Amino acid sequence: MLAVVKTAPGEGNVELMEVSEPRAKPGWIVVEVAACGVCGTDLHILHDQYKSYPPVTLGHEYTGRIVEIGERVEGWHLGDRVVVEQHAGACGECDLCRRGNHHLCTHKRPPGSGINGALALRVLVPAYLAHRVPDDVTDRAAAMCEPLAIALTGLESIALQPGESVAVIGPGPVGLLAALAARYLGAGRLVVIGRATTSRARLELASELGLETLDSSSCDPVEALGASFTNGFDIVVESAGAAATIALGVRLLRKGGRMVGLGMGDGREIAFPWDEAMNRALTLHFSLSSAYPTWDHALHLLRTIGPQVERLATDFTLPRWSEAFEAVATEQVIKALLWPGL
Ligand SMILES: [Zn+2]
Ligand SMILES: [Zn+2]
Repeated sequence: MLAVVKTAPGEGNVELMEVSEPRAKPGWIVVEVAACGVCGTDLHILHDQYKSYPPVTLGHEYTGRIVEIGERVEGWHLGDRVVVEQHAGACGECDLCRRGNHHLCTHKRPPGSGINGALALRVLVPAYLAHRVPDDVTDRAAAMCEPLAIALTGLESIALQPGESVAVIGPGPVGLLAALAARYLGAGRLVVIGRATTSRARLELASELGLETLDSSSCDPVEALGASFTNGFDIVVESAGAAATIALGVRLLRKGGRMVGLGMGDGREIAFPWDEAMNRALTLHFSLSSAYPTWDHALHLLRTIGPQVERLATDFTLPRWSEAFEAVATEQVIKALLWPGL
């Protein structure tokens, strides 16, 4: 079968090549991939800025059908539609695992970087990490369950209450998914903030989805939104990961506000407005990976917001993988989905 493979460490070294099909082993299932998203992490692996174990097939945001079931796997049938958590290799024995944080285990080797992933027709994964996709959730929507689970993990960490105001900074896929989820969860005023100079298409799509947007390249959002100590936002979702956007997030919050960090930086140290945060008595959360219950919450959420989530996707066939990567890198698309069976 064809697969998009990181063939060796270093810059680049990603190619579409023939690899052997995986076979089920005890406790594992083979999933035939319907669709697999291209994530910022895949671009980081391409440029050798994220740990991978080459040769390894990329792709970790996917959905598909079970086509082979290993020994000792119970409760699953051929043809079942699944999405699969990322915690392959979690040891089950370390302190983090024993506290229920398998998704943070330092031994985990996720498909798509640690073991072969889903930018291929078939992927081999541990059965215990699979979740059943509801019948009324399409493949296009289910393929975005992983980034939605990431966004939802962030919202759950700050315990969004109905009616609370939310500013989402950074209209990338995770930011937009966080905004759609926040709306569903009952957010009051909800504003998506981004720079029209670089993210015009993303802001336009947010508007089309009925979200209030603000172009931060043409105004000071703090002034434009009238944010103050007493009248600022209850919650900021920071999904850009840059010094300027983090500082903006702090200044948008009211006293006692909460911020959740979903955006990865570029590896360098980021200056932080400590006193501004101190004077507001802020709470800052970070969201990394996502745990079992959140995946179930995300799948359930997709039953309602699936049609909106699907609007984020642009489809590509597997042989067009490099075009898809380029489209993500240059923000021509929000989420590129590759369909290995097409
Ligand atoms: Zn991802
Ligand atoms: Zn562990």
